Amino acid sequence: MRALPASVLAVCGLIASACGGTGTGDAAAGQAAPATAAEQASATSAEQSPAKQSPPDAKPLEGKVVVIDPGHNGGNYRDPAAVNRKVNVLTKWKPCDTTGTQTNGGYSEAAFTFDVSKRLVKILEARGATVKLTRTSNNGVGPCITQRAAIGNKAHADAAISIHGDGSAPANHGFHVIMPKKINGPVDKVVGASSRLGIDVRNAFAKGTGLPYSTYVGRNALDYRNDLGGLNLSTVPKIFIECGNMRNAAEAAKFQDPGFRQKIALALANGLQHYLEA
Ligand SMILES: [Zn+2]
Repeated sequence: MRALPASVLAVCGLIASACGGTGTGDAAAGQAAPATAAEQASATSAEQSPAKQSPPDAKPLEGKVVVIDPGHNGGNYRDPAAVNRKVNVLTKWKPCDTTGTQTNGGYSEAAFTFDVSKRLVKILEARGATVKLTRTSNNGVGPCITQRAAIGNKAHADAAISIHGDGSAPANHGFHVIMPKKINGPVDKVVGASSRLGIDVRNAFAKGTGLPYSTYVGRNALDYRNDLGGLNLSTVPKIFIECGNMRNAAEAAKFQDPGFRQKIALALANGLQHYLEA
């Protein structure tokens, strides 16, 4: 269903600048349109592919396993000793988890990610996927980032996504996707697939939410990192998404709107489905 061979798209994923000639112009203009014809075709076909050639009662994601990781946890602030315990993420030692950020009005990232994740579970299950969450409430502590990765690995997830909202300077805005880099470790074998997943989710998120590409991280909303335990320790295709900046007033207002969170969940589901059907 792709207009280009997977190898070409993988190259696009690894060399983001080669896929987007417009630089920061897109973000500044508030337009998050795919940067090339190939990406355009890829984004457009997400709307057309579901179940067209399948029997009428077949669900598009039947047989697929998705692990959703709602970033942080609502109870993390209550147990600093557990949360700050250092864990090995292969490239460094990091705290087991963090409290996450919040809007200036006090709406927490943990509550936001949990709500979006629950909405995403419903949509994906309705499309036939088997879905597992890394946490099932928003009043507990953890799990550690190592465990969040292990849950995806153990489930042999076809795709895994960790959902976050960023806490940057107030003028910064827009969303970005984070994908793993090779670290001479177990994640190396899924770096290419994660990159394809990241581009599919980036395209669907821009289209579905209308949010611009990040004005302050990555290029065309794509960032590659080797310091995140949730990515370094993953042996299944996995990405993070920072849905926007919770410290930016306009984005904070959107994130506090349940209708907009549904829009986010739907966009994420469409991106995941596009990747899973490829
Ligand atoms: Zn976060």
